[in-house]
Amino acid sequence: LTAKAHDDHGTVIALNEQVTVGGDELLIVGGPCSVESLDQMEAIATRLGQRTIQALRGGVYKPRTSPYAFQGMGEAGLAILDRVRRRYHLPVITEVMAIHQIEAIAAHADALQVGSRNMQNFDLLKALGKVDKPIVLKRGLAATIQELVMAAEYIAAHGNPNIILCERGIRSFDTYTRNVLDLGAVVALKQITHLPVIVDPSHAAGKRELVPNLARAAIAAGADGLMIECHPVPEESVSDARQALSLEDMAALVESLRPIATAV
Ligand code: PEP
Ligand code: MN
Repeated sequence: LTAKAHDDHGTVIALNEQVTVGGDELLIVGGPCSVESLDQMEAIATRLGQRTIQALRGGVYKPRTSPYAFQGMGEAGLAILDRVRRRYHLPVITEVMAIHQIEAIAAHADALQVGSRNMQNFDLLKALGKVDKPIVLKRGLAATIQELVMAAEYIAAHGNPNIILCERGIRSFDTYTRNVLDLGAVVALKQITHLPVIVDPSHAAGKRELVPNLARAAIAAGADGLMIECHPVPEESVSDARQALSLEDMAALVESLRPIATAV
C-alpha cells in the first residue's frame, strides 16, 4: 500500500484545513523537545507561527533513556498543546508511546508521532491504523529503509493511509554526532514509496550548530519538510538542550530554505 506503484503521484496529507505535506509547499514543524509550559509554547507560536512554521511539535510523553529523567507533562501537556493549536490555528504533532495514550492524544493533536524507539512496536502500529489522524513515523535507531517501509505498511494495512515518514539519523560508531543523518534514505524513500518524507536534523545532529546545514541538505535531497527542535531559551530546555535552536536561528534557517526549495 505504501509502494510507489500503488500511487504514482506523491500522496498529499492534510494536517488541518490549511496545512498539508507532500505537495508543493514545504512543511516546517518546529517546537521544543518537551512541552514545558503554556508560556513556552505561546512564545514559539507567537514568534514563529505561520510564517516560519506550519506546525508545532512538542512531546508530552517522552521516551527518555533514563527513568530518572523528566518523562513529560502528560495530560497537562496535551491541554497546553490544545490551547495553542486553537488560539494560533497551528496544527500540533506529539508523540504517542503506548496504545492507551492514543485516544487522548488523538483528541488534542492533529498528528501522532511514533518515535524511533517504537518504530517496530507492531501492536502500536496496528492500533494507529484505526486512528483517523495522520501518523508521523520516525525511523528506528538502527532500522533499515525496508524496515521503515514495512512499519508504515503495518499502519496502512490496518486502515490508516496517512503516514508521513521521518528520517532522523541512525546509529553509527561515531560519537561526534548523536546519529548519522541518512539523506540517501530520503532519496530512496521518495523513489520507492508515495508517502511524504520529512527530516529531523535535530536528533541526527545532537548539536545545534550542525542543524542548519543538515536542514538545507535535506531539502536539497528532496525532503517534503523538516521537523526541528527550537526553544525560546535553548540552554534551559528540559530535554535535548544541546540541539535546540533559538527562535531567531530557526526563523533565519527557514528563510534560507526558500531558494533551495525552489531549485529542487
Ligand atoms: C522526538 O522527536 O521527540 C524524539 C524523541 O525523537 P526520536 O524518536 O527520533 O528519538
Ligand atoms: Mn528531542
